[in-house]
Amino acid sequence: MTQPKNKVVIFLGPPGAGKGTQAERLAAEQHLVKISTGDILRDHVVRGTELGQQIKPMLDAGKLVPDDILIALIRDRLADMEGVRVIFDGFPRTRAQAEELDVLLEELGAPVDHVPLLEVPDELLIERIVARGRQAAADGGTGRSDDTEEVARHRQDVFREQTQPLIDYYSARGHLEHVDGVGSMEEVYARILKSMK
Ligand code: AMP
Repeated sequence: MTQPKNKVVIFLGPPGAGKGTQAERLAAEQHLVKISTGDILRDHVVRGTELGQQIKPMLDAGKLVPDDILIALIRDRLADMEGVRVIFDGFPRTRAQAEELDVLLEELGAPVDHVPLLEVPDELLIERIVARGRQAAADGGTGRSDDTEEVARHRQDVFREQTQPLIDYYSARGHLEHVDGVGSMEEVYARILKSMK
């Protein structure tokens, strides 16, 4: 089967909703490139780049990294692609990022196709994040430095304040699809596929 040249999916949902895992699978099955800004930023921190040193305190505290940094990262990432077949995981997180992404995508002739919103109740989100932190420690690693209960709660607040407005933004453009994010990985994945039909 030939794939259409461009496809743009934006995964929205609070931290701990399972965006990363679901996006990974969708990317593999639909030949899309997953762009996770959290992964890109953490990689800078691990490598100790200048940017990494600058943003580490923000990541540790669960605060958003400034919009101009994110926009420059995404602009670079999209610049070296041929067809734009992407899933964004963790981007955009603010209205300014969403607007700038629209400008970029317009330049590339690749408009947004789908915006699944993974919905999971707050308390379950905190539980999942704290469990992920404990599991990483049990596996002998240090895990994500922001997977503690206190930082997890702060990240939920940041989501409500800064990212929730994007729900209206994409809803107004007719792209938003609500997806129940409670259930097994399989169940949620099936719902995501259905929402994109
Ligand atoms: P994530 O892995 O998506 O939960 O992101 C981890 C952390 O990276 C966030 O808590 C922010 O500090 C930072 N980050 C990731 N994506 C963005 C973004 N689009 N805008 C601002 N900060 C971000």
